[in-house]
Amino acid sequence: MDRPIDLHDYQPTLPDNLNPLDPAELATLFDGLRIQTRHIAAHPYDPNTWLQRGITLMKLRYPELAVGDGYKAGLLAGEALKGLGDGKWGLGARMGFWMLLEDDEAEEDGWEREMLRRYLDGLQRKARELVEQNLELWPAFEEGRFRRRKYPWMPPEFASRGDEVLRVINDEFKDNGGRALRNGTGQICSVRRHAFGVDPNGEKPTHDVLGVFATREIAPDSTILIDQSRIWGCNGPGAAGSLENLNGGMGCGEPIHPNLPSEDTSLDLRWIRAATGKNARCSLVFMRALLCAIQDGGVDRNSLSHPLIARLTPCYPAERIHRFSLANDIALPHTFLRTQGGVDIFANPFFDTWVFSTISSRILSNSCGDPLAECLSPLFSLFNHSCEPNVRWELHKDHRTVVVRSVGRMRAGEQLFVEYDAFLSGEGVGRRREGLWRWLEGPCGCGRCLREEEEEEGRRVDEKMEGVELGKGKEWDGGEKPVL
Ligand SMILES: [Zn+2]
Ligand SMILES: [Zn+2]
Repeated sequence: MDRPIDLHDYQPTLPDNLNPLDPAELATLFDGLRIQTRHIAAHPYDPNTWLQRGITLMKLRYPELAVGDGYKAGLLAGEALKGLGDGKWGLGARMGFWMLLEDDEAEEDGWEREMLRRYLDGLQRKARELVEQNLELWPAFEEGRFRRRKYPWMPPEFASRGDEVLRVINDEFKDNGGRALRNGTGQICSVRRHAFGVDPNGEKPTHDVLGVFATREIAPDSTILIDQSRIWGCNGPGAAGSLENLNGGMGCGEPIHPNLPSEDTSLDLRWIRAATGKNARCSLVFMRALLCAIQDGGVDRNSLSHPLIARLTPCYPAERIHRFSLANDIALPHTFLRTQGGVDIFANPFFDTWVFSTISSRILSNSCGDPLAECLSPLFSLFNHSCEPNVRWELHKDHRTVVVRSVGRMRAGEQLFVEYDAFLSGEGVGRRREGLWRWLEGPCGCGRCLREEEEEEGRRVDEKMEGVELGKGKEWDGGEKPVL
């Protein structure tokens, strides 16, 4: 957030942006945002720096980010207040450190201590107010509403997929064809840049459109890919291994899920399952994405640069409004990062709330699953969608292995299409397009959709004509009344 931005890239995430901010006001707010972000870098444990930036983010109409900063301000003020209760400690300048006081100093310090207590109390209250102001559904729910948008300060290297990301993916495809399938025939498919059609919003550079293509002829009903993921989650078993989730909804019966036998007990994720109930699978996928970034790249790197996250693009459907929850989307990832990720959530800018929000948008547009489990597959997520797919897929019982098989015979060079949501297959074109909002930015433009759209259009025209010719009194739904 400390980068200069192009104001043309600014898109607020607040759902009702009725009176757009004028450009001069916007420029001032973004200047403030940059300065406050630098203040945070210099004094990360000062609750007031977080509160001030949170207020700027609210004015810039990013409710989910304002809540993130307000939450951190409240946390810091609360922790400082707790420290004050113990008379032996005094607060260092801008709260960056604690000092052990001499005995006489501790007594003289009483008045200053009281002033500091009042100041921190006030900050904590304001931080709470900032959070509540941005939770639209509060007090009934501690939830806010927002639209998913690209943040204008996103560094360009994270905004689209570079050649290095493509090279990594193609090495994985090569590896998968040769090793995972153990069929000795080597690579079966590869990914490449493939600009098809026109981006409906005219916003995405078409060079960033990828597709998966057959690199050789593929026989009908053959296995193309066995894709195992590290980023997965399930609603897990309930108490005493029941099939119910702890907090309602269905779970699975695997006693150690959502952990794996190979995992260290220090990374026991069952508390997340208990805290998030029937949404556990989605929260767990998100935590595992953060964990992957930390395990592979350490904590001093932006998690958006991790190859499993850098390969994903998000969808930003224009009209879709999402909910975010203070408990599950803000407090939970911060607690996870502090307790199990070893991340200093105040001093480390690589795990800021805007990074969370960007990762969660990418997961939403690329993961697959069922009501019990969710999985972000490293290679499968790169397949494009068609409502008449030439490959089919299945998520195994382990919740993290996706197997892709061909339907009919395929030529070398042919693009492989999957159907993202098989439950939509029997629906009409309108329902299908509506149901695909998570994965496709505009209406699905596959062959079947275009054909059915044309047929429907034709039917509508026929019906109108029928009504006119037979004079059945059908309502004319627009334009001039027909002359009979
Ligand atoms: Zn499970
Ligand atoms: Zn379609």
